[in-house]
Amino acid sequence: MEFRTPAKGLSPADEARGRPLLDLALESIWHSEGMSRADLSRRLEVSRSTASQLAGDLLDTGLVAEGGDGPSRGGRRPILLEFQDDAHVILGVDMGATHVAVALTDLRGRILAWREEAHPVRSDPEGTRALMIRLSDEVLEQVPGATASLLGIGIAVASPVDHLDPSRLSETVLPAWKGRSGFETLQERYGVPVFVDNDANLGALAERWWGAGREVQHFTFIKLATGIGAGHMFGGQIYRGATNAAGEIGHISTDPHGEPCLCGNRGCLVTFIGGDALVRKAEALAANAPGSLLADGPITLGRIEEAALLHDPVAMQLVRDVAHHLGIAIAGFLNLLNPGAVILGGSMARLKDDLLVPLRETVVRRTLLTSVAASEVRVSELGPQGIALGAATLVLASALSTPTLFPAMQKLTADRS
Ligand SMILES: [Zn+2]
Repeated sequence: MEFRTPAKGLSPADEARGRPLLDLALESIWHSEGMSRADLSRRLEVSRSTASQLAGDLLDTGLVAEGGDGPSRGGRRPILLEFQDDAHVILGVDMGATHVAVALTDLRGRILAWREEAHPVRSDPEGTRALMIRLSDEVLEQVPGATASLLGIGIAVASPVDHLDPSRLSETVLPAWKGRSGFETLQERYGVPVFVDNDANLGALAERWWGAGREVQHFTFIKLATGIGAGHMFGGQIYRGATNAAGEIGHISTDPHGEPCLCGNRGCLVTFIGGDALVRKAEALAANAPGSLLADGPITLGRIEEAALLHDPVAMQLVRDVAHHLGIAIAGFLNLLNPGAVILGGSMARLKDDLLVPLRETVVRRTLLTSVAASEVRVSELGPQGIALGAATLVLASALSTPTLFPAMQKLTADRS
């Protein structure tokens, strides 16, 4: 099976040394808004004739084309080499605990088509894989030529992912899946590589490339959903820890005598403000608040969020609970890690200041150093599509750092050897 381990994200120039010039040229053109052959020769520190040769090869792949004229440096205006963002499409799949969402993107993170459906993912592996395929088919059908130009599939899972064997899933978090993702079915159906990573890591990757973390070297992304996960982006790279389990912020125990948690501990953060806990609390509170928007019918995380947007008193009580417990956890890792920003994504991010203001108060009260307290807590700019976009970005990042993932680049390299 052709599962791939995740790429490292944007590669700093010093790390890029030793890579083939053709790969560097392709990545440089992607990062530019169009560059001339002279720009390319300066960027790669090669002769003009070498740069022209590289440009000619890349034009043959169809990944790069000649576009408009660049600014003149005295003589004739140079022709710009432009990356072709629509040369391929990518599928980004967000497999949450209670839903599946699929984004079809181009090679610049633009979402071309989107489908989302509620599903009991935790208890139904087979149905979940079938739903992933149905939603993928639906988005591919929406864009002419998409199936033929599919580059790869990225999948975000709400579970730690083993770097060395991404087909494995955590048996603790997803017991019904028995430790296997079964994502080979997607690889077989579409004939492209499948990449898998933890959803909070991919949320962080999406914020780094396209969202609220673009200008921040060190930040932590927190996903609030049924579970609570964190992705740490340090120096532009995801920090995974020794066994890929970094970021399990939801299982920080804040009360050793608290409710039992699925991880075996008691009083984990997720037992206070995870999706299931919030729904149970909302049910209890709403039973004594007949005027509440949550008084009738089954309560879901989505309904709590909607009610909070309308400042329903029961929902706002829950938001204050989230701000309190999450603030304690955030203060803890601000003291430890001193990131430049904390970016909140997932179910509560739409509340913006209604969540951020009480959250910042808790954080500031509990962090002693002004430098730590100055770390900015903000909400995701990407909204509910961020995780799926991050999954697609994982494929794009891998292709830019290993361009033989592009079939035309693989052919070019094979022809050479
Ligand atoms: Zn736990």
